[in-house]
Amino acid sequence: MAVPKRRTSKARKAKRRTHIKLEVPGMTLCPNCGEFKKSHHVCASCGHYDGKEIVSKEA
Ligand SMILES: [Zn+2]
Repeated sequence: MAVPKRRTSKARKAKRRTHIKLEVPGMTLCPNCGEFKKSHHVCASCGHYDGKEIVSKEA
């Protein structure tokens, strides 16, 4: 098994983790309306998924 030759420094670890905890876990921005949505779920605000309208949100 591969073993790290050098210990990861505090700075290097922090830089790698800059994007972690920035987003809510399991949440992504909807490409259609820009709202936060659950990943792999139909958007709650516009009803789009994978560029297509799945649930119509009229009225
Ligand atoms: Zn949306």
